[in-house]
Amino acid sequence: MSDKLIKIAYLYEDLMNTYGDSGDVKILSFLLKREGYDTQVDNISLGDEFNAFDYDFVFFGGGQDFEQTVVAKDLPRHKETLEKYINDDKPMLCICGGYQLMGSYYKTNSGVTIPGLDILPLHTVFKSDKRMIGDTRYMTEWGEVKAFENHSGQTYFDDTDKLHPLGNMIEGYGNNPQDHVEGLRYRNFIGSYSHGPLLKNTNVANAIMKMIIAWHNERTNKPATVTE
Ligand code: GLN
Repeated sequence: MSDKLIKIAYLYEDLMNTYGDSGDVKILSFLLKREGYDTQVDNISLGDEFNAFDYDFVFFGGGQDFEQTVVAKDLPRHKETLEKYINDDKPMLCICGGYQLMGSYYKTNSGVTIPGLDILPLHTVFKSDKRMIGDTRYMTEWGEVKAFENHSGQTYFDDTDKLHPLGNMIEGYGNNPQDHVEGLRYRNFIGSYSHGPLLKNTNVANAIMKMIIAWHNERTNKPATVTE
């Protein structure tokens, strides 16, 4: 294996890619190329085998309710590997519908409850009052982020000792209309409602790139597959 090849797993790229979320992967590939790395992006779709530890980065984009329903049926096969990967500080970015599916459930506006992977203690519900759509701005540990949101699901943390938001709202809704926070930072996992894509904010993109390179260096000095 070339130690200059960064492997990216794009979960359900063909189903989960609203408002140009694939731009996040393209921006990371561009920034990594400037650092001298090539990238390989694998679409992990319905029925595909997947070991998260074979990758330097896992990406999961946004999706419409119907596509989330389809994906939610296939996703539990990957719970074990993703749970270990996240809890082992490996880098992962989930946007909107993908972020929702990492929690316990998403109850949609048609009353359907889509089960999530239940890796992170959060849940998402539709409430009749609001679809959260428009420009967003928020302050993160890496500085200000400007993006766009469009979601009906409102996300709430069930364990606020364990989960911390990605940022504090300046403009827009973020996770829900009450908490004035956006997204999630847990270890090297980032969840966000930001499209646009998010990583046009190169402060966040550079921070994620550093996480990817650090894990890549560790991974390529070890056997590619970690088993416990
Ligand atoms: N379907 C979900 C919602 O409306 C997620 C939307 C998205 O990923 N853009 O809340």
